[in-house]
Amino acid sequence: MRITVIGTGYVGTVTGACLSYLGHRVTCVDTDAAKIEALARGQSPIYEPHLDALLALAAAHGGIDFATDLSLPVEQSDVIFIAVGTPALPSGEPNLTYLESAARSIGAAMDDSRFRVVVNKSTVPVGCGNLVETLVREGIAEARPAERRAIRFGVASNPEFLREGSAVTDSLYPDRIVVGAADEQSLDIMRELYRPLAAQTFEPPAGVPRPAGMAAAPLFTTSLTSAEMIKYAANNFLAMKIGFANEIANLCERVGADSAEVMTGIGLDSRIGSKFLNPGLGWGGSCFGKDIQALVHTAREYGYSSRLLEASYTVNCEQRQIVIQKLQEKLHILKGRTIGLLGLAFKPETDDLRDAPSLSIAARLLQMGARVRAYDPIAMPACRKQQPDLKLRYCESAEEVAADADALVLVTEWRQFRDLDLRKLARSMSRPVLVDGRNLFDPETAAAAGFEYTGIGRAARARSAGATGGDAPSPN
Ligand code: NAD
Repeated sequence: MRITVIGTGYVGTVTGACLSYLGHRVTCVDTDAAKIEALARGQSPIYEPHLDALLALAAAHGGIDFATDLSLPVEQSDVIFIAVGTPALPSGEPNLTYLESAARSIGAAMDDSRFRVVVNKSTVPVGCGNLVETLVREGIAEARPAERRAIRFGVASNPEFLREGSAVTDSLYPDRIVVGAADEQSLDIMRELYRPLAAQTFEPPAGVPRPAGMAAAPLFTTSLTSAEMIKYAANNFLAMKIGFANEIANLCERVGADSAEVMTGIGLDSRIGSKFLNPGLGWGGSCFGKDIQALVHTAREYGYSSRLLEASYTVNCEQRQIVIQKLQEKLHILKGRTIGLLGLAFKPETDDLRDAPSLSIAARLLQMGARVRAYDPIAMPACRKQQPDLKLRYCESAEEVAADADALVLVTEWRQFRDLDLRKLARSMSRPVLVDGRNLFDPETAAAAGFEYTGIGRAARARSAGATGGDAPSPN
């Protein structure tokens, strides 16, 4: 099929590359000319494992191209994906101006040569499918008033569930594909588009193997409204699950239980499951905060008070400050102290800093008079560019961060931090305090290496004789 993907951010670029890999002919469009130029040169605008290789493969087969003007691609396409950003406004509502502008332009570019499906992949509040339909119609009416009745299209909602850092794997091997639409023709086209993915008939790309035992991906078709709600419900649930683990971990510290043991113990219950139960200094990223606020806002519009969702947001904001409290407990005075941050990205394997806990922690420490250094294997260039006023000292390595520092805070659980020589780090510090914000290190190993270690919910580690415990789940 001929596909246009509008927006070449984390979602649009990965969607375009994967659809091209499945055999579709894709044009990725963005209003940001610098991004399009870079993509046309073969450079991905974001750091995402396997994406560069997939883009290179697509370009070599002529399966993908890039444009700043959507007119021609839309005219030639069967399916048009909208994957533009929907960041939160100060009110908590998502900013829909990018979506609205894209929908109008799509309408203006359509002719009557074929039926097209306009697919919302951006996360948008319930009802936006209808809004997109209206805006596309308005675009058509303005650009081609005479032909407006002959131009046929449907609108679908196809929420995206990929995770940054494993976006290519998530897109090629999804747990499920959700498509909502009001008309059968649009649903049929979407089924056809996703047939190779749903049936898993494609050859896996090099380095991105199909999970063992995966034979198909369920394609779940719903109404437009349900599909829109599924995305919000999923993200709100996941954020709440992490918030719950954090709250229990905070209690564990007070009563003398070990949160890793507690999470393993509850995660073994199949009704609960072990994923997303890893205590830490809180979630971040572009989606959870924005999607909770958007659903809370929708609830208010309908006169409903969503107390669980509101609490989940507040609990997470407070969780980030726990690092500061722990530093104060260890060092008492933070003014003039040197604090080193290990990791800046909101999670490993990405350069994304949107709503990253590192930023609020660094800003608070600087405000309190501390000197803050940081090292991140990937996200430092993005941080320098996006946060010019954040007075961090960027270091070349974890060792440079630690040298003569008063405390280290593990903020992002990059894999390479697991292999650090803790003994060497501790020895190089002015005071060997380690606040492990992701419970990455074993407390006993860290203590044996010379650190004054504190994790999240792990203060008490004494085990009763005979307790078997379990492996600590990998942090969120
Ligand atoms: P992003 O900010 O990385 O990218 C959005 C892109 O859209 C930008 O490059 C911007 O220049 C472009 N754009 C804006 N208006 C445009 C227009 N009129 N025409 C063409 N391009 C335009 O955003 P993202 O992280 O890819 O997220 C996109 C959407 O997907 C959001 O609604 C987000 O909530 C949702 N989502 C994101 C993720 C994620 O992990 N990032 C996961 C699932 C869903």
